[in-house]
Amino acid sequence: MAVNKHLKKKSLATKALPCDRCGRIVENVDERTKRVICSVCVQLSVGFPEEAKSTYKPTGRPAGWHWMKEYVDTDGNVFHKGKEIPELKDTLPPTVIKPRKKIKRRSKEQILIDRHNKKKAVLKKAIKKQKDFLDHNFKKE
Ligand SMILES: [Zn+2]
Repeated sequence: MAVNKHLKKKSLATKALPCDRCGRIVENVDERTKRVICSVCVQLSVGFPEEAKSTYKPTGRPAGWHWMKEYVDTDGNVFHKGKEIPELKDTLPPTVIKPRKKIKRRSKEQILIDRHNKKKAVLKKAIKKQKDFLDHNFKKE
């Protein structure tokens, strides 16, 4: 308890500490501070969230819609390569976006099965070739 009280007491004494990440000297650090991260590293680790927030607007449009020759959104707005064509609004049906194929991670077992099937197919082909050869009906190329 006594220790907590001591820590809560505001100390005005400051010191300079090297940044925990880059070693830049950070001044006016509370003397009780053991580690400090400079403003540069904080900014880097945070990744400028304000900026990111202001530019990111979810549109509900598919990725790369503005590269599409023609894209009609669900409101009937028509875009040609990302440029809105107001005259065409509501003249076209909304572009149907094919849902992206989910990349299923194959299980280890599935990988083995696939590999086995592939091998089997290759083998089958080889056997057939040999058979054809034996039957003297292999094609001359
Ligand atoms: Zn730093």
